[in-house]
Amino acid sequence: MFQKILIANRGEIALRVLRACKELGIQTVVVHSTADADAMHVRLADESVCIGPPPSRDSYLNIHQIVAACEITGADAVHPGYGFLSENAKFADILAAHNITFIGPSGDHIRIMGDKIEAKRTAKRLGIPVVPGSDGAVTEEKEARRIAAEIGYPVIIKASAGGGGRGMKVAHSEGDLEIALATARSEAGAAFGDDAVYIEKYLEKPRHIELQVFGDGAGHGVHFGERDCSLQRRHQKVWEEANSPALNADQRAKIGDTCANAIAELGYSGAGTIEFLYENGEFYFIEMNTRLQVEHPVTEAITGIDLVHEQIRVASGGGLSVKQDDIKFNGHAIECRINAEDPRTFAPSPGTITHFHTPGGLGIRVDSGVYSGYKIPPYYDSLIGKLIVHGRNRVECMMRLRRALDEFVVDGIKTTLPLFRDLVGNHDIADGNYDIHWLEKYLASAD
Ligand code: ADP
Repeated sequence: MFQKILIANRGEIALRVLRACKELGIQTVVVHSTADADAMHVRLADESVCIGPPPSRDSYLNIHQIVAACEITGADAVHPGYGFLSENAKFADILAAHNITFIGPSGDHIRIMGDKIEAKRTAKRLGIPVVPGSDGAVTEEKEARRIAAEIGYPVIIKASAGGGGRGMKVAHSEGDLEIALATARSEAGAAFGDDAVYIEKYLEKPRHIELQVFGDGAGHGVHFGERDCSLQRRHQKVWEEANSPALNADQRAKIGDTCANAIAELGYSGAGTIEFLYENGEFYFIEMNTRLQVEHPVTEAITGIDLVHEQIRVASGGGLSVKQDDIKFNGHAIECRINAEDPRTFAPSPGTITHFHTPGGLGIRVDSGVYSGYKIPPYYDSLIGKLIVHGRNRVECMMRLRRALDEFVVDGIKTTLPLFRDLVGNHDIADGNYDIHWLEKYLASAD
């Protein structure tokens, strides 16, 4: 087991990882920018190292400074959290070259999944169902027209290097195709420095369903069921549930086994999430994230298993603590992402939190790095906390969520809490009856 882990992140996820390390009796080091000197992760860690000024590229993305911090403090492993360097293959390679363990998969696996065309090809080879579309990159309009006619309109043109919902264009008919192809390529080139794009069928009313998987690096794979993340705004997840209201136990076991077998065959190590669009009873792979997800606590709530403990165990060579048969799903969990944003316009609302009071009681978990008097720096993500609620079934979970949202107080800044108070009283949400476009339509109709 590791003696000392360096956490290369900030905010709620740095705290989340820190808690797991403390439970396992592992010393902790955190890195921080000058803007985060008063942050909770800095206060609670055994050691901290200031690695640069506020902009992320000079601090949380500065590989040299982070490696230097490992060497100075004698950390033997790094947990990257999510975002920042968590899916940076070069970072994983550099740590390996310094004999520091990256708590995550190999640089090669990160590289394959970071290239969406390669990821889709790999998924197909491993028996995972994919969205019908081009086999690789498409450059010629003639070829695009042929593929689109074959799979049928509407089609979506996506950037191979894409991420964060950027670099996608929909073409509803052949007339739209030329412009969609040209715009997607130039946007991809400008945003990612790589203008490779591919084409797939545009699904009109899918749900976003993702499978939590784990590999032990020794040829074994397991799945921890799915999460339904269909409630999105601008392709960003807002509310997540486990399990999905749309799947039954047989469907879960079937897609879960497909994913677990693929992970085993890949020889993958650590946590991963295989994302699908789900429509008319069929799953369509869209991408795999090779890290811990923001929404991992809903899976922890229904399985009772600490996924960060498992990541650390696997990275240290100790294997998983569970086999597939040990993983049982109990009840239902929902997570709300609380952002420092206007609940209608979603404009960021940094500033000082004058009062912060979190709900409590059975089945409530709040993961947050803020406190009363905390000043939110304007440089980073607007997520200030996650409310995770668990109940014996979805009805109990929703009742508890409504009560917890009533108790939650954040004064001094605007937050997305009022949006969740509206959603929890909505009939479609109560019925679990929504797809990936539901929230955007709801927000537009409420204007
Ligand atoms: P990113 O890496 O940028 O998040 P994804 O491939 O994961 O890109 O897609 C993000 C979102 O875009 C999906 O959750 C879905 O809302 C939409 N999307 C992607 N592919 C399709 C598709 N073939 N049909 C319909 N919507 C899609």
